[in-house]
Amino acid sequence: MFEYRKTGWIECICGSMFSGKSEELIRRIKRGVIAKQKVLLFKPEIDNRYSKDKISTHNGNSYESISIKSSSKIYDYVKNKNYDIIGVDEVQFFDKDILKVINDLANNGVRVIVAGLDMDFKAEPFYPMPDIMAVSEIVTKLHAVCSKCGSEASLSQRLIDGTPAKYNDPVVVIGASESYEARCRHCHEIKRD
Ligand SMILES: [Zn+2]
Repeated sequence: MFEYRKTGWIECICGSMFSGKSEELIRRIKRGVIAKQKVLLFKPEIDNRYSKDKISTHNGNSYESISIKSSSKIYDYVKNKNYDIIGVDEVQFFDKDILKVINDLANNGVRVIVAGLDMDFKAEPFYPMPDIMAVSEIVTKLHAVCSKCGSEASLSQRLIDGTPAKYNDPVVVIGASESYEARCRHCHEIKRD
């Protein structure tokens, strides 16, 4: 005997850069596709890392996605479509309305899977991630490997021309080469003026 179960919940995949968040999101999405579930993926329009209409991971895995500017756009795409799974990558870059959007979806029977950075390069919570983590039924925190000492890394180190960024450095430093690497709490460096 199978008892009737209500569907609809939120899964949050979080962690630092290079922790495999997009990879894990795509893995869960592809399992749904194998089971013939109806899935749709979104990402913020500002993330043009590899492609405009795909979510691509650092090691080449990809899945098609829709780039949107504001989180409420999701309503237009899902209206009367009966999706089983809605995925959102780089969810930390969305406006705070994303919280209401994913709650609405889950309340209406959709399995929502979001992935995002839980902390910024300053090692501070990346809003609205703390709120999303709070309302999620399942939170999976992934770790990268610290590029300095090899232990579990939970932070993203921002480097400008190869040296640790300062706390007050602008988001874009013109003329400088910017890079990121994963670091543990002990190896993470942030210079304050
Ligand atoms: Zn370390």
